[in-house]
Amino acid sequence: MENWAKPLRRVVIVGGGAAGWMSAGALSAVLKPPYEIRLVESDEIGIIGVGEATIPPIRMFNGLAKIDEAEFLKATQGTFKLGIEFVNWGRQGERYFHGFGGVGREALWPVDFSQYWLRLRALGRALPLDAYVISNMAAKANRFMLPRPDMKGSPLEALGYAYHFDAGLYARHLRKLSEARGVRRTEGKVVRVLLNEEAGPTEGHVRAVQMESGELVEGDLFLDCSGFYGLLIDKALHTGYEDWSHWLPCDRAVAVPSESTAPLLPYTRSTAHRAGWQWRIPLQHRVGNGHVYSSAHVSDDEAAGTLLKHLDGKPLADPRIIKFRTGMREQAWRRNVVAIGMSAGFVEPLESTALHLIQMGVAKLIEAFPHAGFDAVEIAEYNRQSRERYEYVRDFIVLHYHLNQRDDSEFWQACAAMAIPEKLRWRMDLYASSGRLADVNGDLFREPSWLEVMEGQNLRPRGWLALAELQGVEETAAYFKGVSETIAACVAVLPEHAEFVRRYCSSPGSR
Ligand SMILES: Cc1cc2nc3c(=O)[nH]c(=O)nc-3n(C[C@H](O)[C@H](O)[C@H](O)COP(=O)(O)OP(=O)(O)OC[C@H]3O[C@@H](n4cnc5c(N)ncnc54)[C@H](O)[C@@H]3O)c2cc1C
Repeated sequence: MENWAKPLRRVVIVGGGAAGWMSAGALSAVLKPPYEIRLVESDEIGIIGVGEATIPPIRMFNGLAKIDEAEFLKATQGTFKLGIEFVNWGRQGERYFHGFGGVGREALWPVDFSQYWLRLRALGRALPLDAYVISNMAAKANRFMLPRPDMKGSPLEALGYAYHFDAGLYARHLRKLSEARGVRRTEGKVVRVLLNEEAGPTEGHVRAVQMESGELVEGDLFLDCSGFYGLLIDKALHTGYEDWSHWLPCDRAVAVPSESTAPLLPYTRSTAHRAGWQWRIPLQHRVGNGHVYSSAHVSDDEAAGTLLKHLDGKPLADPRIIKFRTGMREQAWRRNVVAIGMSAGFVEPLESTALHLIQMGVAKLIEAFPHAGFDAVEIAEYNRQSRERYEYVRDFIVLHYHLNQRDDSEFWQACAAMAIPEKLRWRMDLYASSGRLADVNGDLFREPSWLEVMEGQNLRPRGWLALAELQGVEETAAYFKGVSETIAACVAVLPEHAEFVRRYCSSPGSR
C-alpha cells in the first residue's frame, strides 16, 4: 500500500492557545483509539490570551466538545453576554446595541418585521428598535436568565446569549478535558519542521516537528495552531497571506485588565476613540479591556494613555501591546496541514468572531476528516467554505468602520471615504433603497444583526417595500405595542445578571 493510502491516524496539533485546545477538545470528543492526538505547546512562548468575548454559536461548540456549561463558566470566571453596546460609532455621543437573537417577531406577513417598523417610525408610531429586541432590553436592565424552551411563543423561549470568559483559563479547562480523553501534551519549543522528501503524492507534506529537546513528533495530519507565527502553514509551507489592512486599518491593540466594578454587565462595550476603539469585557473577577488602534494614526503611548483614561476600575497590570495584520491565509488547508486560529487569519476582535472561526475550522475538519491520503476536492471545498466565512465576517466588520459620520479625525474620515468590498456595497445599497435586508446563505450575521448596525450607525432607507402597507396602521401599531409590552414584562421578571451568575456558576475568587 502506498504511504498516502495508509489510514490516517496520528493527529498533531502545534500550539496550545484557544485554537489548539479547542481543536483538541472537539477532536478528542470524536476520535477514539486507534486515533492518536498529540498537542505541542511552548510555555515560554505563551499564548495571546485576549479572546474573551464570544457569540452564541459557541454553545454549539460546547455541545460538540461535550463541555458542561456551568462547570466551564466556573472554571473560567465566565459571565453571560447578550450583545455589544457600541458607543461613539455613528457620531460621537451616540450609542446603540447589537443584541443576539431576533428583532421583533416573525409572525407578521408578508414582509419582514423591520419593514413594518420602518413604516411606523415614519409615522411617528414606533419605539426605538431596542424595544422590540429582548436581549437589548434585558442587557440595558442588567438582567439575565437562560432561555426557556418550555415557554412556547414567549420571547424567553429562545433568548440569544453567549459568554465572556478568561481566555487563559478557557485553554486550561479545555486542556484538562482533552487530556482526560487521551490527548498527549508535549511542552517545549518546536525548532524545526520536517517535510517528506520522498517523491510521490506526499512529497512536501509535513512529516514531523522537531522539539528543542531533540524529540521528533511525527504525524499524518498536522493542525497549525501556532497563532501569528504560522509555524507550519507559513514558515514551512510558505502559504501566502491576503492582506486586508486597506479595509481594516487597525493593526495593534493595547490590553489591560482592571478591577471589577458593579454592576456586572451582561454585555461587551465597544467605545470608538480617535483612531480605533476600546473593548470592555466584564468577567467575574476582573474586567478585560483593550484599545484596538491604527499605528499610522496614533502612537503606542497615546493609545495606552487613552485606554487607561477610559477604564472603569483600577488597572491590575501594565498595558501589553499586541501587533497584528488583518487578513487571511490564502489556503487554510494545504497538503496535510490545516491552519486553525490566528495562523489561518485574523479579522478584528470587534464582533468577537475569532473563537467562532476556530470552532468552524475544527468542526468542518471533523466533517471532512480524511480516511487515508488527502483528496484535493475535499481540501478545495474546505478552503472555499473557510474563505467564505472569513469574508462574510470581514464585510460585517468593515461596515462598522465605513458607516460613520464622525468628522473629528482623519482616521474616521478615511474609513468613511474608503472603497469597500463589492458585496458590502450591495447590501448597504439594498437597505438604503427599501430597507431590504439581504438574505445571504451562510453568513454568520443574519438580517437582525445587519439591521441593528446599519440603523445604529444612521443608514436610513428611502422607503419600505410595497406590501408593508397591506396591513392597517392601527392594527400594526397595536401589534407592535403588544410585542414591546411582552418584552418589557419578560425583562421585569428576570434576575439581575450578577445574581444569576452567583447562583449558577460562581467562580472561586470572584466578587
Ligand atoms: C487584541 C485581540 C483581541 C481579541 N479579542 C477576541 C475576542 O474578544 N473574542 C474572540 O473570539 N477572539 C478574540 N481575539 C482572538 C483570539 O485571541 C484568538 O483567536 C485566540 O486566542 C486563538 O489564538 P491562537 O490559539 O490561534 O494563538 P495563540 O494564543 O497565540 O497560541 C499560539 C500557540 O502556539 C504556540 N507556539 C507558537 N510557536 C511555537 C513554537 N515554536 N513551538 C511550540 N509552540 C509554539 C504558543 O506557545 C501557543 O501555545 C482577539 C485577538 C486579539 C489580537
